[in-house]
Amino acid sequence: MADPSPFTMMTCPYNPAHQVEKYKLQTHLQKCAKQYVKGNKVSCPFDATHVVNEPELDHHITVCPKRFMLDTQLYITDDDYRPTVGLAAPAPAVPTEENWDDDCCVSYNPELHKKPPHVITKPKGAIPSERRKKRMEGVKNYRPPPS
Ligand SMILES: [Zn+2]
Ligand SMILES: [Zn+2]
Repeated sequence: MADPSPFTMMTCPYNPAHQVEKYKLQTHLQKCAKQYVKGNKVSCPFDATHVVNEPELDHHITVCPKRFMLDTQLYITDDDYRPTVGLAAPAPAVPTEENWDDDCCVSYNPELHKKPPHVITKPKGAIPSERRKKRMEGVKNYRPPPS
């Protein structure tokens, strides 16, 4: 169940006759690369221990396990952005002078266009009397929506 031991013997991709312990492989490859540089071997852009024939690099990139990891991350990133796609405009900030608490206006709500927006911010960090003052300001500014 453990990771392969660093002493696991690996086959050098430049020359199958080279058996190298895993922890030495990176160093070995650097040395070996100098000898085999004319053999059109190239290392994978995603993992330097992947060495392939240059004509096969394109193919390798499409199947490289490291590349799949990157793709997965990209996919997740795309997915995170997707909810904002399709909104006509970026969510406008709730027009309140007291927009200093992110809790109150993180999500875009089209309903805010129909009613006068009002947010009583949830003060944090300030001393209790400050917080009470802020809260009172929020209450004071409150205007009920027209019915
Ligand atoms: Zn070698
Ligand atoms: Zn690779």
